Amino acid sequence: MLRTTIKQSVRQFNANASSSIKCHRLEGKVAIVTASTEGIGLSIARRLAQEGAKVMLSSRKEANVKKAVEELKSEGLQVAGTVCHVGKAEQRKNLFEKTKTNFGGLDILVSNAGINPAVGPALDSDEEVWDKIFDINVKCTYLLMKESLPLLKCSKSPSIIIMSSIAGYQPYNLLSIYSISKTALLGLIKATTSELADKGIRINGIAPGMIRTKMSQLLYESEENHELVKMNISMRRLGMPDEIAGLAAFLASDDASYITGETIIVSGGTNSRL
Ligand code: NAP
Repeated sequence: MLRTTIKQSVRQFNANASSSIKCHRLEGKVAIVTASTEGIGLSIARRLAQEGAKVMLSSRKEANVKKAVEELKSEGLQVAGTVCHVGKAEQRKNLFEKTKTNFGGLDILVSNAGINPAVGPALDSDEEVWDKIFDINVKCTYLLMKESLPLLKCSKSPSIIIMSSIAGYQPYNLLSIYSISKTALLGLIKATTSELADKGIRINGIAPGMIRTKMSQLLYESEENHELVKMNISMRRLGMPDEIAGLAAFLASDDASYITGETIIVSGGTNSRL
């Protein structure tokens, strides 16, 4: 019942938001968004396409890819999709090849996939969990960036966007390893900014606060948790995926032509740093 109401309000929010989008900053551009069949990734894919980009969707499950592609196509958007578990080298290779074949090149890479398979204190975590989180959240982000370069180098205004988290600045208590991995992404962005700038490529990060998606479901499903979470947010509500998507479109566009090496927090005023 609660889940149905949430889904309905998300849908309503999407419908209202898309009718108010007036910019077409991404006409002629091609984008890849990983993990884009639901949540933040799907919202970003939709927004980039609404602003004129051709967008390649992807995630691990074929049925999810098919559903997301159909949904966005039914809204008149130019999208295609392919299966890509970001941890699988062959599937990443195929993602870039399919993007080139379908859309002729690549201008925008949004590395959005991120996982958190375990909850618990930092010093209780085992090696397997550490490896899994770092493999997907950090190593695969790095590999995707590297593998995108041959296509991005041919673009007139290439840009990379990495999905970090506010937890990268202020670790969440029971999500410590996940938080450390998101801090590592801040470092990855800083460490590659100059090298990428030499190639004319901008790189920026987005650090969302609590956003209403499947990943954060535990935090809002029970009224008690929901109230506790909201107490730490100045705006006293969780964010919606579309409220991340607007920033992604801006960062990918030429409006952000002098912004690189930054990670921008979108958190409704959650405390994170001075
Ligand atoms: P979500 O709603 O749970 O969506 C997950 C998406 O990722 C689905 O499309 C899923 O599709 C795909 N996926 C999962 N594992 C994948 C993999 N290994 N390779 C490719 N695709 C994969 O998640 P979300 O909340 O939107 O999170 C998206 C990003 O935002 C993550 O990096 C997360 O850390 C970050 N973030 C989220 C929040 C938040 O509060 N929600 C806050 C800060 C940062 P399949 O099942 O088909 O693979």
